[in-house]
Amino acid sequence: MCEFCIQHGEGKKWYLTMRNYSRELWEQCNRAEYMEDFGAQFEVRCGTAVAKLDAVKSIPVVYRFFRRMAMHKNKTLHWGQIVPIEDVEQILEMQDSIVRMPCVCRRLTTGRETRYCFGVGMDIMGMFGKYPDYSHGLEVLEKEEAVGLVRSFDKQGLVHSIWTFRTPYIGAVCNCDQDCMAYGIQFKTNLTQIMFRAEYVATVDWNKCNGCKKCLLNCQFGAIGYSNTMKRPTIDMNRCYGCGVCRSVCDKEAIALLDRAQFATLPW
Ligand code: SF4
Ligand code: SF4
Ligand code: SF4
Repeated sequence: MCEFCIQHGEGKKWYLTMRNYSRELWEQCNRAEYMEDFGAQFEVRCGTAVAKLDAVKSIPVVYRFFRRMAMHKNKTLHWGQIVPIEDVEQILEMQDSIVRMPCVCRRLTTGRETRYCFGVGMDIMGMFGKYPDYSHGLEVLEKEEAVGLVRSFDKQGLVHSIWTFRTPYIGAVCNCDQDCMAYGIQFKTNLTQIMFRAEYVATVDWNKCNGCKKCLLNCQFGAIGYSNTMKRPTIDMNRCYGCGVCRSVCDKEAIALLDRAQFATLPW
């Protein structure tokens, strides 16, 4: 289990612990103000943080220091974890309120409005409804609708993740591709870590696989290679984020997710 499961999970996965979505937690530490401020200031704050890290990247000692500081701050305030579809379904089942909203970071990276972000928990409509950038795009979803959408995103290869607003309170379920800021910061440029990999890691059963290569196209993390000799895909567990979207396009049910904690040397 990841360090958040140990700190905030009450003996289970931290994102399946009801307390981390509760009103009791929401009412502590000025979370409503933090979340409002997060929405209003996202572009400025994110741009500044990325620019600072980028500026010191060529000075290793300074960069390592800033990177550690940024990770510590993000873990305290706004941290994510990749979550496969079956766990997202359990998370959505636990919610009283689900609101589909415009993506703050896709707007920053692409200039386009897309709505792959689900606010969960407390008063999302009340908080974001007053901002013109968000208000027209807010849509209250029934649980079944939300689950149906997330399943279709999974097929399209969108990676699911959950995000804290003053950890451990979880306020968002995201569905991302490479236009996501988190993907860019952590994976594309490796500026700093802002999310954990999933509690899982993928494996492929060559006896079931027919070598069609569909799974290769759905992996956003470059974790799947292909053996031309064996005519089968290979999964690099060290690169795998455990998102499971390769599995969703496999007609042969050849891909399974294993418990990451079984493999002591794998990164989180
Ligand atoms: S993390 Fe992904 S789903 Fe969430 S706002 Fe950013 S791009 Fe959208
Ligand atoms: S190989 Fe790993 S990272 Fe790539 S799609 Fe499959 S589960 Fe996700
Ligand atoms: S999608 Fe499934 S059957 Fe096709 S190559 Fe990948 S593991 Fe094999």
